[in-house]
Amino acid sequence: MSLDDKNTLAVEGGSPVRNTLLPYGHQCIDEDDIKAVVDVLRSDWLTTGPKVAEFEKRFAEMVGAKYAVAVNSGTAALHAAAFAAGIGPGDEVITTPMTFAASANCVLYCGGRPVFADVEADTLLLDPSSVESKVSPKTKAIIAVDYAGQPCDYDALKKITDRHGLILIADACHALGATYKNRKVGTLADMTVFSFHPVKHITTGEGGMVVTDNPDFAVKLRAFRNHGITADHRQREADGSWFYEMAELGYNYRLPDINCALGLSQLKKLDKFVARRRQIAALYDSAFADIPALFPLAQRDDRKSSYHLYVVRLNLSKLNASRLQVFCALRAENIGVNVHYIPVYWHPYYNKLGYGKGLCPVAEKAYEEIITLPLFPAMSDRDAEDVIKAVKKVLSAYAE
Ligand SMILES: *Cc1c(COP(=O)(O)O)cnc(C)c1O
Repeated sequence: MSLDDKNTLAVEGGSPVRNTLLPYGHQCIDEDDIKAVVDVLRSDWLTTGPKVAEFEKRFAEMVGAKYAVAVNSGTAALHAAAFAAGIGPGDEVITTPMTFAASANCVLYCGGRPVFADVEADTLLLDPSSVESKVSPKTKAIIAVDYAGQPCDYDALKKITDRHGLILIADACHALGATYKNRKVGTLADMTVFSFHPVKHITTGEGGMVVTDNPDFAVKLRAFRNHGITADHRQREADGSWFYEMAELGYNYRLPDINCALGLSQLKKLDKFVARRRQIAALYDSAFADIPALFPLAQRDDRKSSYHLYVVRLNLSKLNASRLQVFCALRAENIGVNVHYIPVYWHPYYNKLGYGKGLCPVAEKAYEEIITLPLFPAMSDRDAEDVIKAVKKVLSAYAE
């Protein structure tokens, strides 16, 4: 076989499927977005101005929630939600290991202890029966993560939280625009958290949001993002008063008007972005249907994923290569694959806290076999075809 044979893997000296790296995620910014930001820069309010309330109102309408509170990251949103839920020392919060560390870190910020429940093997979503088995008298809340963009089984989780008097928090950083039994993500839990990092469905640069129908949570969330102060700057100005009170220990988690203007402009395109993500996912689904060494995550009939990630699982028994080899071979073809996620409690910080391997065997086994393929709305069909071509090239080269 000559080295310019198109079947020779790039990792073995062949030519790559494409010449430039296709990242796994990327923002989608147009001239309207740029104009929206520039307009704010020319206005009187760079932060804590009218764009914040406008973004919150539009976002709440979009997801069907009563209240939305903007903060400056998804991580801050999780911290605020854990605070509003009243998590403190001695409390346990059940969550999944198959997530970004922030989903569990927010419990630690509040002095509580994350307890990891296992996931379902085919969806990698929190398994309600495992959650049930981890409930103890110390349990105060559940943080569900809509992994890859598919909502968890919220009816089953709600049954558990109702039975034990727990608060249900949805980490929906992957799932803006998704539905469960025709109900929108944002209406399924006591509080729902979103991120506006550039790889997510819409971006504000950095940013996050908590939505809720509960007015008490909304008040707590608002105070928490502003040092625990009960009145904001504009309200004080309107009252003609210098007086304010810091009632709780809060933070500066405010999202500037500059970012909110970008969020408002991006929000107009959310439906289009989600539709494009689903289109690319459908292209992948049909292209991979007959490859025995790989299977996409299962999608439940009663849910519609908004596909933050397209995750495939390798059937390593049908390959004479490891996941690492497949990963490196795809990278060499200039396909920006990634792995989401290392089980949270495998990180050294969690190890220091006493967590060890073996807690969630289903998640741990899945971790060894998953790869995330590029997926973002600005990808062309040609980009998607490159991904498909590279996956087929690499897996047939490594077929058992
Ligand atoms: C992105 C993400 C976060 C954190 O959001 P940031 O805006 O980056 O702070 C939290 N949880 C999940 C599941 C995420 O994907």
